[in-house]
Amino acid sequence: METKTSTTLIIGAGLSAASDFHLPTMRGFFTQNISENTEINYFLKWFYPNQNPEEYNLEDVLSFLNLSCARIPIWQNNFQSQSNRILFDSLLKYTKMRLEIPVNSICSLHESLFQTLKEQDTIISFNYDLVADRVLLNIEPQQNDRPGLDTRMGKISGLLGRLNIWNDPPPSLLPREQKWGFYLKLHGSLDWLYCETPGCENNVNIFACGVSELSEGQAEGMPCRYCGASLKTFIIPPVATKRLEDRGRMAFLWNIALRQLSSATRIAVIGISFAPSDFELRWLVRQAIELRVQKYYELHVVNPSKHDRQNIIKLFPGIDRSVYEYETVKDYIDNNPVDC
Ligand SMILES: [Zn+2]
Repeated sequence: METKTSTTLIIGAGLSAASDFHLPTMRGFFTQNISENTEINYFLKWFYPNQNPEEYNLEDVLSFLNLSCARIPIWQNNFQSQSNRILFDSLLKYTKMRLEIPVNSICSLHESLFQTLKEQDTIISFNYDLVADRVLLNIEPQQNDRPGLDTRMGKISGLLGRLNIWNDPPPSLLPREQKWGFYLKLHGSLDWLYCETPGCENNVNIFACGVSELSEGQAEGMPCRYCGASLKTFIIPPVATKRLEDRGRMAFLWNIALRQLSSATRIAVIGISFAPSDFELRWLVRQAIELRVQKYYELHVVNPSKHDRQNIIKLFPGIDRSVYEYETVKDYIDNNPVDC
């Protein structure tokens, strides 16, 4: 019996760094324009005593501040909570600035990579940036100048918010939503907006600006239509487990990611480091492999460092697999042409 092949790509900051825009990775994120921002600069010098800015890591800092913002207002009754909040917000602003890419330009490396995919293939991303989003919007089929309804990009609004159908949406995915693979940004995105008020319609749902025809003028800081609080950008630091469980929409995306990894015949890990602090990601991979019905799969690992590749391969348990290693994304693309 012939098995239908499907690929799931797991992509991380290394792929954005290799893009035409050379975006910063998590480590070394704070090497530019940081001196202009006094409060972040002051905090980083305290957080990393006597260390070079090259050592500073965005995810470590975001994770620390995220936990402080959640706990200090409850555990302590002081003004510290206020300053943590301000710092976290300025850090998000700085992050957006660092990850900004020119409007209307498309990364040629991402374009070639995504052209190796078939409709049923899935992309799991841990990047907040919009490099992959732009390419997918450009190469996937369109309907009336909008992403095609069932394409990876076309489905995002329905996964994060209200499904645009006449009837009440069914409790889970429609058959047509399962025809194509998915584009799952498991740490959120710079163009996703939500409201912080528990129970608010915009707290339950997330608004993806990049794919909605109603996104014009929508921005962080604008008042929430339902409760009046100011809207926030939705990104999740890696240790914020509680936040993932709190937010049903994200649990939905993680569940789909788990299923896609369990059923894919090929898994390609590109430019992602599996930081020890990111136990959610490490859990996702190991659990997905354990849940596999079809035990055999191909594992493709793209990373310039042999040491990093070895560490990534160790994270994928079991021996019933073939492993392929590549130093560059181009090597991967050249060796894995479009599968017809
Ligand atoms: Zn609200």
